[in-house]
Amino acid sequence: MTAPLVEVENLTRHFAAKRGLFTWAAPPIRAVEDVSFSIAPGEVMGLVGESGSGKSTIGRTLLRLVEPTRGTVRFRGDDIGTVPAGALRKLRRHMQIVFQDPYASLDPRKRVEDIIGDILDIHGLASGPQRRPRVVELLSEVGLGPDHLNRFPHQFSGGQRQRISIARALASNPDFIVADEPVSALDVSVQAQIVNLLADLRRRHGLTMLFVSHDLSIVEYLSDRVIVLYLGRIVELAPARELYARPRHPYTRALLSATPVPDPDAKRARIVLSGELPSPANPPSGCVFHTRCPHATDICKREVPRLEETSPGHTVACWRKDEI
Ligand code: ADP
Ligand code: MG
Repeated sequence: MTAPLVEVENLTRHFAAKRGLFTWAAPPIRAVEDVSFSIAPGEVMGLVGESGSGKSTIGRTLLRLVEPTRGTVRFRGDDIGTVPAGALRKLRRHMQIVFQDPYASLDPRKRVEDIIGDILDIHGLASGPQRRPRVVELLSEVGLGPDHLNRFPHQFSGGQRQRISIARALASNPDFIVADEPVSALDVSVQAQIVNLLADLRRRHGLTMLFVSHDLSIVEYLSDRVIVLYLGRIVELAPARELYARPRHPYTRALLSATPVPDPDAKRARIVLSGELPSPANPPSGCVFHTRCPHATDICKREVPRLEETSPGHTVACWRKDEI
């Protein structure tokens, strides 16, 4: 087996509660709790969970845009938590992020040529007469033309803006991209185009990706493996096809039952979860999912289930996985 490109071990991130009355007594927000996984070179790992489950925090800690409270992240074997600032800057060239909202993440005062060209400058990748042709090349990679060079972000549609963000992420020739809900803010009709673009780019450049979404049906197409996250914890991790065909965790089953299936005869019975997503400042004891789980028993309330392998590469954290 080849060495992983990205290795995450026991990653935990707590945030202090927002300032206000009595914050000295407020428990921390447990955004990410003891998460471990690795991504092989060229692999796309899907990361799925409801809003607030810790997806963005994980994505950002991988690039050290957020510091972990505990745990390590290794990139090509280097612990990115301990590399000196200079080396981190060099490492950053190889890891990029595409955000959900391409409007907020693009400087409205810059023309496209500079939005992308500035990245080339920062990393010393193309200057002088080489700069513009390289920007044009990057634009064509994402389906835009040279006539777009002089335009500002507001002159583009949402889908086009996300293409610009992707071109900017590609500018430094990264090996690894965190795509943090890159299509969630787009019209449904445009979502598939951007997912297809990412799939093309991945094939052409052998990109490794963490593809984040709150929607299981969106990660299915692109991902080799998928992580299902609940309240900052991994509840299930499996090869994509296996996860969709044989989900083992009750939470994954509930999520899947809510996604449309193309074949109407294969309709899944809709599983409706009771109650609200608990607060990560006050997570339930034992299995954090027990308050919403239709199968919860006593042990689920008391003890945290560990991730265990149920078939090759398929791990599930559920006390009742063998009975349900
Ligand atoms: P997701 O991307 O899955 O929606 P996030 O990683 O953004 O989830 O957030 C996970 C939890 O951590 C949420 O409860 C969120 O409010 C909290 N959180 C995220 N960033 C911060 C921050 N900088 N300060 C305080 N709380 C935060
Ligand atoms: Mg998020």
